[in-house]
Amino acid sequence: MFAGIFIYPLAAQNSPTAVSSNRVTLSYMGTAGWEITDGNTVILLDPYLSRIYGPQPPGRPPFARASGDSRPQYGWTDVVVPDTAVIDSHVKKADFVLVTHTHYDHVLDVPHIALKNHATVIGTESTENVMRAYTVPEEQLITVRGGEDYDFGMFSLKVIPSLHSPLDHKHYFSSATAPAGMKAPLTLEQMHPEGGTLAYLIRFHGHQILAFGGMNYIEREIEGLTPDAVLVGAASSRKEIYDYTGRLMRDLHFPALVLPTHWDNFTAPYGASQEPAINAVQPFVQEVTAASPNSRVIVPRYFEPISLDLPSR
Ligand SMILES: [Zn+2]
Ligand SMILES: [Zn+2]
Repeated sequence: MFAGIFIYPLAAQNSPTAVSSNRVTLSYMGTAGWEITDGNTVILLDPYLSRIYGPQPPGRPPFARASGDSRPQYGWTDVVVPDTAVIDSHVKKADFVLVTHTHYDHVLDVPHIALKNHATVIGTESTENVMRAYTVPEEQLITVRGGEDYDFGMFSLKVIPSLHSPLDHKHYFSSATAPAGMKAPLTLEQMHPEGGTLAYLIRFHGHQILAFGGMNYIEREIEGLTPDAVLVGAASSRKEIYDYTGRLMRDLHFPALVLPTHWDNFTAPYGASQEPAINAVQPFVQEVTAASPNSRVIVPRYFEPISLDLPSR
């Protein structure tokens, strides 16, 4: 039932002329951030490169500060200036920025990236209100609520209603939305009202990439999707969810490639070792392998491109 017929059937069915003319690569930027590109069009998901030593999600102890990290510690009422040197050293081009929800570890860097690269920002009304506070022009903002399926020419995008990670042992809940009319600079608190959570299905050169920004999903919204690559939230709050990995793999018909996301220590700078987080994510890798033995799982190193045209196993 897990045979290789599942590996790349969509490429043959949906876009026979586009396949292999452009190689699609995904690069992990840390946190829930990814660059998805064919070498021409650049789509970013939740790009967060500033990696400040900031406040914790509710109900969890502070991350241990990375050794040698003497950067300032920020609280909810602080205004934070994004680390534009780090952002610009890694983001050379951005055409579209997809945002899953309005938390600072997903949205803090997006105004700068949008303004500098003239990128179109796709996200909830809450996310777009943060963009408006930083005067991102209205024509660069596409507000979505989930359910849309939009064609952008080079790719298409199905916007999928989703759920935030069940932080604080399922006690996390937020109905807060960033309001219209805010003026920059915003405090961390002002850019941390969840505003609803989305996932995205990106169809690009015959590939289908399903991207989550955290550790949860609405099963009925993903049943029947057949992505060949899926970015799956893999931090420990997934364990609050009944058969998280198993249900996901079955619902998605055992995707060929699984890439864990939002599993690193996002308060540590890029220079800190990824090894402790890589070790901590291994149980997730085992969950995927148990539920979907023919899926390939790649634990990404920062900024190492992963090609979707990998040879099938
Ligand atoms: Zn969040
Ligand atoms: Zn997050």
